[in-house]
Amino acid sequence: NGESRFSPLPALEALPAPTLGWENGAPHSHAFDDVYFSRQDGRAETEHVFIHANRLPERFAAWREPRPFVIGETGFGTGLNMLCAWACFAHHAPPEARLHLVSTEKYPLNGESLARALSAWPDLAAEAESLCRQWPEAVSGVHRLQLGDRVILDLHFGDACERLALLDGRVDAWFLDGFAPAQNPEMWHPALFAAMAARSRPNATFATFTCAGVVKRGLAAAGFHWQKVPGFGRKREMLAGHIDAPPDDTRRQATPWFTPPAAGPAKSAIVIGAGIAGACVAEALARRGVAVTVVDKNAPAAGGSGNRQGALYVKLAADTNLQSRFYLAGLMYSRRFMENVDPGGTLWQPSGVLQLALGEKEAARQQRFAMHHPLPAALVGQRKQSDLRGEAGLDVAGEQGLLYPQAGWVRPAALCKRLLEHPTITLIQGEAERLERLENSENGWQVILADGRTLAADQLVIASAHRANRFAQTRELALQPVRGQISEIPLPAGVAGPERVVCAGGYAPPALNGVLTVGASFVPRDTDTALREADHAHNLTELEKMLPALYRRLKAAGAELDPAQMQGRAGVRAASPDKTPYAGPVPDAAAWAADYAALNKDATRTFDTPGRHHPGLWISAAHGSRGLSSAPLCAEVIASRLCDEPLPVEGPLADHLHPGRRLIRALIRGEESG
Ligand code: SAM
Repeated sequence: NGESRFSPLPALEALPAPTLGWENGAPHSHAFDDVYFSRQDGRAETEHVFIHANRLPERFAAWREPRPFVIGETGFGTGLNMLCAWACFAHHAPPEARLHLVSTEKYPLNGESLARALSAWPDLAAEAESLCRQWPEAVSGVHRLQLGDRVILDLHFGDACERLALLDGRVDAWFLDGFAPAQNPEMWHPALFAAMAARSRPNATFATFTCAGVVKRGLAAAGFHWQKVPGFGRKREMLAGHIDAPPDDTRRQATPWFTPPAAGPAKSAIVIGAGIAGACVAEALARRGVAVTVVDKNAPAAGGSGNRQGALYVKLAADTNLQSRFYLAGLMYSRRFMENVDPGGTLWQPSGVLQLALGEKEAARQQRFAMHHPLPAALVGQRKQSDLRGEAGLDVAGEQGLLYPQAGWVRPAALCKRLLEHPTITLIQGEAERLERLENSENGWQVILADGRTLAADQLVIASAHRANRFAQTRELALQPVRGQISEIPLPAGVAGPERVVCAGGYAPPALNGVLTVGASFVPRDTDTALREADHAHNLTELEKMLPALYRRLKAAGAELDPAQMQGRAGVRAASPDKTPYAGPVPDAAAWAADYAALNKDATRTFDTPGRHHPGLWISAAHGSRGLSSAPLCAEVIASRLCDEPLPVEGPLADHLHPGRRLIRALIRGEESG
């Protein structure tokens, strides 16, 4: 369907931690028989080899671009190089400059070793603390960390050659690190240099500690100019250099429609929609220095994001398809995001989520899932029937379960409000009726409100759930409204809810302020938000199926379980036909239909025309009932693209999220989009 034209992602893997020896406080790799850094002069060596040979102090001091300065690295190791780069940036760069670090690592240290290694550098204690606090599980994929206000680190866990080929972004300076070529020939492969070249900005520099022939030849063959410069300490020589004109990104030739639009000015943005999708985009842009106006027909979080409590969880397919990969990445990112937004945990709790298998079919699916997802237990693990009670804190139904220890629950309405409190976000109440592109103007878009008022900004993001395709520019993007109602049950004295979020057909998080929330009904193509007895009855049935003992206790203690009397809330969510969110630039559907019409006759045809988009127009929608896991990462995808910085997901995942994917599928199949 237009996506299948790419090489798929490499297999999802849990990456083994390296076996380390410690010499005088510095880690040493047994497998490669090499050191990560020298205990005596590791930091001085980093400064000499990577920081100064790339001329970073001068370049940071002169950095005036609105986009961040991007450093790419092979072999993150202990993070010493990157933390030194951050410290150098903090010292030299002007206050509004931003830094973006991208590093690959095939054998991530465990958190304990990381902290131990970095404790050698007391000067970098604050930087190390930020890194260690957010250090991700050792799972292949991209992990985005917000290190400081102005510094992002994307850890691309997996093999350097493979990972750089999947990187969607370009680099200004490379740290070509890694164990010595003689010890680790696999990494210093021609494909590594080719991937570096294809992901370089014009005039990107590089530096490396080695002078090995294979490195010189590989760099030259990929188009880098190198020279020998004095090495550090006893090492006589090392290499530094640059690339004048990097080659094109060949991946785009297979899928020209997904070629991102050229980044335009991003000083101001309007976001339509103040639910979780819009609030996350607004905050992500504001964090990057963009002045944001959020406009919503109602108060913040009045729609599908307005519940007092929602589950931060995912339901992953049994096989590791792109959608599953996205949601897994989304869950891990949301977890870090919540910790940054609300370290005190007043808006959320990582209570863990227990997914029950009620019945043999679901049990078999969970077995298959566990086989295809070899993930660390800290992320997801199987639980036998006999373990379920201990995990949930009360009797639960089910043959077995999957436990996501890092997932939990969030107060979505309160989160939206918190995100929108950012000082550079302005909130306006009004109904966006039409969108007009302003040619030849600083302000690229005008939003005309129902009451005649107009708003203007150079970027525009539509995040209004099922209303997102009501504009002329988005009409072709298929969206389905889905009504969902939650029920709220005040707990009688002496009755406690579950200790983790328990879910099967529905979900029930731990009680909040003495009230148990149970959700949610799922009624496609229904936009009514009135409370319905039938939906309460549905939620009660699901509760009884998951937590029969709790249900009996509630009944015995006289809790309000009459659907005619119960409290709750109904909202409307939006879903795409393939149930993956739309996150990215809005395609010009008419132009795509004209440019790629020949796909109908020959789905393998290639084209020279890059995808035409409405410049400066973006969408984050179709988050369904999983917005807490998808919206924060989708917001980073959009903000990164909009601000011309590397993406927080692999290229194929960004394309999987692309709002135009269904248009291409329809063209290939000769169907109406949808
Ligand atoms: N830059 C690191 C620092 O600042 O601490 C030191 C890097 S250490 C000398 C080399 C790193 O390369 C190790 O962490 C190792 O696991 C990693 N590595 C080795 N082979 C790799 C590969 N094929 N892909 C990605 N990383 C690799």
